[in-house]
Amino acid sequence: MQQSGYTHTIDGRGESSDASFDVINPGTGAPFAVCPDASQDQLDRAVEAARRAFTAWRETTPAHRRERLRSFAQALKARSKEIATLLTREQGKPFARAQDELNRAFANLEGLLAIELKPELLRDNERGHVELQYHPLGVVGAITPWNVPVLLALPKITQSLYTGNTIVLKPSPYTPLTTLLIGEIAREHFPPGVVNVVAGGNDLGAWMTGHPGIDKISFTGSVATGKRVMASAASTLKRVTLELGGNDAAIVLDDIDVKALAPRLFWACFGNSGQICMAIKRLYVHEKVYDALCDALVEIANKVKVGEGFEEGVLMGPVQNRMQYERVLELIDDTRRQNARILCGGEALARPGYFIAPTIVADIAEGTRLVDEEPFGPVLPVIRFSDVDDAVRRANDSRFGLSGSVWSADPARAREIAQRLEVGTAWINHHVGVEYDVPFGGTKESGIGREYGAQGLKHYTEIRAVSVPVLPPMPPMVQPAGAAKR
Ligand code: NAD
Repeated sequence: MQQSGYTHTIDGRGESSDASFDVINPGTGAPFAVCPDASQDQLDRAVEAARRAFTAWRETTPAHRRERLRSFAQALKARSKEIATLLTREQGKPFARAQDELNRAFANLEGLLAIELKPELLRDNERGHVELQYHPLGVVGAITPWNVPVLLALPKITQSLYTGNTIVLKPSPYTPLTTLLIGEIAREHFPPGVVNVVAGGNDLGAWMTGHPGIDKISFTGSVATGKRVMASAASTLKRVTLELGGNDAAIVLDDIDVKALAPRLFWACFGNSGQICMAIKRLYVHEKVYDALCDALVEIANKVKVGEGFEEGVLMGPVQNRMQYERVLELIDDTRRQNARILCGGEALARPGYFIAPTIVADIAEGTRLVDEEPFGPVLPVIRFSDVDDAVRRANDSRFGLSGSVWSADPARAREIAQRLEVGTAWINHHVGVEYDVPFGGTKESGIGREYGAQGLKHYTEIRAVSVPVLPPMPPMVQPAGAAKR
């Protein structure tokens, strides 16, 4: 096993912990490194350091913060091969996809820094002058999951710091190492306490959400945990942004070019082995193109090489952890008991690691676990429809509302349908992807608040109205009783 040199970043210094836990490579199922497990005292010191650092950091100009974040990005880029290698080891994704994740994270970081949050003039007239200003909140507690750890950690650092906050960041215990490495690199680029990274289990997350020294929680993870985060944050009325799970529907109309769109649809379902919050998880297909599209998707699935992230030609990696692997297999088993047809896959690969063959299920509908729950793995239900209004109703009949899409040769028709989807992002002939200038987040139980874009940055601030009213003259003062006698 690789020995651990990984450390938390607390007040600008590296620290280990008395306790530790193993980090497992999902491509082998075996531990490959040891991660320090932060104590409550270490969290307290990270929060204190972040509070101290906030006093000076909040006074710096956006231009200064932009310049610091850019030099940090340069340092990350210089070590991107090392970070991507570690990402493949701990997360499992193919090395080329790990490099993509980093490149997208860098592009989002750069793009966010191009957005300026300027004060907004609300009034400048005979009633006076009123301006809306955006002020930092204080200490942000950021909590991330295991599917795209770098792509989620970097924007949280960027949005927090750029708006003048300091941060305490906690990665998932399944994928903590890339985030610890990012923290280590950050030590060189920011004053002590501005960026703190602590690794640990779910308890550490719960300590953060209840911590009186943290002002806002930026959480990305499951709906169930998001509800716990919100309840816990209520004790100190923390601001919360919750980026939670999805069960995204894509609606494929009867006029699509099946051959041309099948690869796009396939990767919007199976990218990152289906472990993307806004992956297509319910594919509604018009009956006219249903069989042809199922055949085309199966043809792609049968050609995709599934394997360990450094193997030659690998396009799809393992499921990231044993718990998720067992859950996906259980959902497939449950599907087998329905009257559904498993067109391909349907089982684990006979090798070490958490590999499941891409699984496509036809003749399935709502009322089954595979359709109603978020699978978060390489298994896709393809659902038949004949009436578009019915498909929209069924797509919307979900407690989730992250994103959705409509696929058609007629963009105007697709757009009319897409804007009826009850989601945070609706795409046309596309699905999956965050862009730095487009606010991203969910409706319903898929979340609260937005990240990215000017709206996303505003969620890292408190608004303050500064008002200089033009007041009518005061009426003449009434002399207090008895004043004249003195
Ligand atoms: P999870 O909710 O189990 O864990 C996420 C993080 O929360 C981890 O760091 C974990 O340690 C921490 N945590 C666990 N219990 C906690 C508690 N009580 N208080 C505070 N923190 C706690 O999620 P996961 O299994 O790691 O990730 C998969 C989920 O994340 C999926 O549902 C997926 O859709 C969602 N996700 C959403 C987005 C988005 O932007 N909407 C992006 C990626 C993933």
